[in-house]
Amino acid sequence: MGGDSIVCFGEMLIDFVPTVSGVSLAEAPGFLKAPGGAPANVAIAAARLGGKTAFVGKLGDDEFGHMLAGILKENGVSGDGITFDKGARTALAFVTLRADGEREFMFYRNPSADMLLTPEELNLDLIRSAKVFHYGSISLIVEPCRAAHLKAMEVAKQAGALLSYDPNLRLPLWPSAEEARKQIMSIWDKAEVIKVSDNELEFLTGSNKIDDESALSLWHNNLKLLLVTLGEKGCRYYTKNFHGTVDGFHVKAVDTTGAGDSFVGALLCKIVDDWTVLEDEAKLKEVLKFANACGAITTTKKGAIPALPTQAEVLSLFKEK
Ligand code: ADP
Repeated sequence: MGGDSIVCFGEMLIDFVPTVSGVSLAEAPGFLKAPGGAPANVAIAAARLGGKTAFVGKLGDDEFGHMLAGILKENGVSGDGITFDKGARTALAFVTLRADGEREFMFYRNPSADMLLTPEELNLDLIRSAKVFHYGSISLIVEPCRAAHLKAMEVAKQAGALLSYDPNLRLPLWPSAEEARKQIMSIWDKAEVIKVSDNELEFLTGSNKIDDESALSLWHNNLKLLLVTLGEKGCRYYTKNFHGTVDGFHVKAVDTTGAGDSFVGALLCKIVDDWTVLEDEAKLKEVLKFANACGAITTTKKGAIPALPTQAEVLSLFKEK
């Protein structure tokens, strides 16, 4: 592939969610498979909106790994960057929302295939073809995947891609909160587009204020756009020359999984179509309205991937409001 492509690097895995809600993992009578992994979700989100996308990462050479590769393909995401590990399994995560509102996670990553991607296994031609190269922070947690992540980022940057970063904090996967903060920030200054959620802003700044001052404390000179997503309240945006807020859409949310990925997929899709959105506030606000709509629609259905919208679904939400 070539052209205006979005290449997403990182993990793809299967969440197992209980068939009934409000129970602990131990109490759950059964589980449903919900494919996910933030970078893979972003690739599918952008593809569903008509974008040209690819996923780079490692899956287990097992039924689940091939199932995930099939899902990418069915959704029009190039699998040219996927490798399969003969020894390790595809990552699994058992996730539940207990009756007390606490989210409980149990990860099967001992190690999982995604953690074993090496720099030598990277499809460098594919990465060089990226106009936007997008990644998270889970791939920074352990070697050799961390080295593969750093190399892929460097190759993409040298080839002229815009680097886009959504740290997607998953604290239970890190050895400590301190290490998570340190590693997430270790690649902060490389990215030109960064999206954090309100909770991540608090975690990274150590402040409990979601305001311009705390957001701007994360600003760096290579950055073209910093976004703070605010759940149902929409998002805030910051560039060198302007900043502001774009309201969210009121919808009946049933499962917020994937809302942030849908938002990012939509944003990147619009950026590769028209780079001037990064400098033109009126255009950026239109794009963020569109991205907020995508995030909102994703909350109205269970699971991340099945809920990622098409252009037509976004337009019909615009008509309703
Ligand atoms: P993340 O999934 O990364 O935690 P958010 O929950 O902030 O990110 O969601 C990303 C975007 O999705 C928000 O900026 C907003 O536009 C939309 N969104 C999320 N939750 C809701 C909701 N309950 N109602 C409407 N829109 C939502």
